[in-house]
Amino acid sequence: MSYDKNNIFAKILRGEIPCNKVYEDEHVLAFKDIRPQAKVHALVIPKGAYVSAQDFGETASEQEIAAFHRAVAKVAKDLGVADTGYRLIANAGAHGHQEVPHYHVHILGGQPIGKMVNLP
Ligand code: 5GP
Repeated sequence: MSYDKNNIFAKILRGEIPCNKVYEDEHVLAFKDIRPQAKVHALVIPKGAYVSAQDFGETASEQEIAAFHRAVAKVAKDLGVADTGYRLIANAGAHGHQEVPHYHVHILGGQPIGKMVNLP
């Protein structure tokens, strides 16, 4: 799957639409989800043009991968869920029900998050 430069997160990265930013560094941006599904719901995205977790894991540099996971941990701590716990979700592709085709991890917490999966 090729990268769609007009996806909503690409527009956020270019500053074309706003976001509620919680963290930024050279490789990573994190912001609040526009439709939160828990008291804490943030999205962490790489700045590079990666479609999915699969694409990121296969082609991102070591620095990008390290920066991404460091950022996830920092955002969880900054948002106050590091000690109480949280769930990371990375939806990928059709069966993963990925809606935005730019790799992202959801951080969900601030309350019990429930069962891990709900099959239809
Ligand atoms: P996915 O299903 O691709 O894993 O999740 C995409 C997420 O992006 C959804 O939780 C949705 O609420 C969020 N989202 C979609 N459009 C926007 C937007 O314009 N701004 C923000 N902050 N989040 C968005």
